[in-house]
Amino acid sequence: MSRARVLLLNAALGPLDYRVPHGMAVEPGSIVLAPLGPRQLAGVVWEAERMPSDAEVGDNRLRNLAAAYDLPPVAAPLRRLIEWTADYYLSPPAAVLRMALASASALDGGRTAIEYRATGHVPERLTAQRGQALERIGERQGLVRELAQIADVSDGVIRGLVKAGAIEAVEVSIDDPFPAPNPDHAPPALSASQADAAGTIVAAVRDGGFAPMLLDGVTGSGKTEVYFEGIAAALREGRQALVLLPEIALTEPFLKRFEARFGHLPVAWHSDLRSTQRRRAWRAIASGEAKVVVGARSALFLPYAHLGLIVVDEAHETSFKQEDGVPYHARDVAVMRGQFEEVPVVLASATPAIETRQMVEIGKYRELKLEQRHGGATMPAIETVDLTRDPPPRGRWLAPSVVSAMRETVERGEQALLFLNRRGYAPLTLCRTCGHRFRCPNCTAWMVEHRLTARLACHHCGHVMPPPAECPECHEPDALVACGPGVERIADEVAALLPDARVAIVTSDTIWSPAKAAEFVGRMEAGEIDVVVGTQLVTKGYHFPNLTLVGVVDADLGLQGGDLRAAERSFQQIAQVAGRAGRGSKPGRVLVQTREPMAPVIQALVSGDAENFYHAETESRREALAPPFGRYAAIVVSSEDQAEATTAAKAIGLAAPQVEGMTVFGPAPAPLAMLRGRHRQRLLVHARRALDVQAVMRGWLGEVEWPRGVRVAVDVDPYSFL
Ligand code: ADP
Ligand code: ZN
Repeated sequence: MSRARVLLLNAALGPLDYRVPHGMAVEPGSIVLAPLGPRQLAGVVWEAERMPSDAEVGDNRLRNLAAAYDLPPVAAPLRRLIEWTADYYLSPPAAVLRMALASASALDGGRTAIEYRATGHVPERLTAQRGQALERIGERQGLVRELAQIADVSDGVIRGLVKAGAIEAVEVSIDDPFPAPNPDHAPPALSASQADAAGTIVAAVRDGGFAPMLLDGVTGSGKTEVYFEGIAAALREGRQALVLLPEIALTEPFLKRFEARFGHLPVAWHSDLRSTQRRRAWRAIASGEAKVVVGARSALFLPYAHLGLIVVDEAHETSFKQEDGVPYHARDVAVMRGQFEEVPVVLASATPAIETRQMVEIGKYRELKLEQRHGGATMPAIETVDLTRDPPPRGRWLAPSVVSAMRETVERGEQALLFLNRRGYAPLTLCRTCGHRFRCPNCTAWMVEHRLTARLACHHCGHVMPPPAECPECHEPDALVACGPGVERIADEVAALLPDARVAIVTSDTIWSPAKAAEFVGRMEAGEIDVVVGTQLVTKGYHFPNLTLVGVVDADLGLQGGDLRAAERSFQQIAQVAGRAGRGSKPGRVLVQTREPMAPVIQALVSGDAENFYHAETESRREALAPPFGRYAAIVVSSEDQAEATTAAKAIGLAAPQVEGMTVFGPAPAPLAMLRGRHRQRLLVHARRALDVQAVMRGWLGEVEWPRGVRVAVDVDPYSFL
């Protein structure tokens, strides 16, 4: 090649052409460094015919590529996936490529990097900042920048500590291979139905080829053990396996189980990695030395050298949908990656999404079923607690029957879990005297009181303020009251009722890293916690044999402000949290507090007959041509200037083409009418399945112009309707 089209790591740019200097060899997929103005930028060589360029430049005006990296090229299946993702989600290809080349420093050669850690020596001049830095860094190690971030001080403070001998440099190796997991380390004895399901996955891995499967098994049926056999098969074939998990908090328990089964840890990939860990993992994934990778959705786009299997665990989880940047759904893109790579894809879930069930229904996915819990554990009995008949005392949130069940559980030395999907102490704070409500200045949202950290916080933009001593409106002191419960308030209630019980709060505020999750799991397993109060973070994945009671504090919460998946999501959430109960030898009990015990969702949970519920939900979606029978795409138009947002949204609405099978709703102010200081207008596009709605939208939006201050974000297959 003497001329190369390069997709640079800059989402604002289309592909650019370069001259390949003499002596440099590149091919499609080669990772290169290219000049751009006065700078140099990394990028990937692409087939010119697949990536049209806006500006054809003559050979004589081309600039030379600066360098080609000594790295394996981005393989064709991943290039096709990047194109598909960009196309489907109407996003710049470079934005998708960035997820594949996710570690900028990994591109550079070099086998070592310098990190820093505390020596234990206390410097003579110990300023407040230095003290804070040493305190917060503790045993941790990282680049100067990372330590500064952890400690919340400037880089200079860290460097000063290095000079003073309190922090030392350590050389870490970047190219050390990861030890290979051993497929024969400790295989379990599978039950007959587990062996059946595992056999199908193993055969698919051995045969190779695209094979999408739904592993549909009740909570505690051993889905993990089953897909582990698929991973073992991939290892025996010398191939890599990727396991996607919905939350990084789940990585830690997964790592432990994996190590027990395979003798070594898999390679973890998530946002909490240090830059050097990220770099080492990326290189090992690209070279094929990382045999098994477990990660959050961002692990999906990495350049695996010999992928042999993809598993999406808890595949129904909506956290697989990315809401910012490229708004992709990792479950759906995982299936596409399986198709391009020609490998099997296992979607594991106890409560599969209607979209996934429909793919089974029409014969596109194979279904593997596990009907029973492993080892004779029984499914917990689910009972409703009618809050209209058995109400909690005023100012409390737990019904008397739930309280007595909890007391008995704790007295027996067993553990209880209370589920409420609300972080903080109370969702709303107001002034008793004048009725003033605390709103976020940047968002259409209440400020949520967090007593643990003593502040009010906006859950949308992160704005925080100390709780004021007086009402800012009427200046009445001590007049603020908390309205409604959050997990912290429930924890207070438990502490008041059972003063001796050890209570833990589990939310993204308390479990924000795999290490924190490990600490929680350790305390649960050691029996150091009696009652857990948690958000959706505790509903998934965990296996605590001594946890025998689950209380759902407000089963009606998920049905409010219902979007099209509200009932389904409520069902999944409650079924999942119920699934935490009675996983060991002791039977579990689930108490669901509700004001509407006859609602179809609640009835489906109590009767254990999910099929009727799913059937009714599916039929109503079919009638409305809602997903998966039709498609939605949202267009969110935002600006700091309200009038500008409204005008631009109107212009986009007016420009909508008349297309058979497509309807455009709106624009209208979004339910979250303001977010991070931007006013938001929404349009919702509905299209029939057969319509290439992306092509229509590309043409449509390509013709409208809007001012610089306006942002237009398209969300194909939206999960959030805010
Ligand atoms: P699921 O993912 O379906 O909720 P898990 O894979 O977590 O279920 O299994 C539940 C528990 O039962 C785990 O502790 C797991 O180790 C155990 N288990 C499942 N199958 C087997 C088996 N065949 N042999 C031994 N233990 C098993
Ligand atoms: Zn806000």
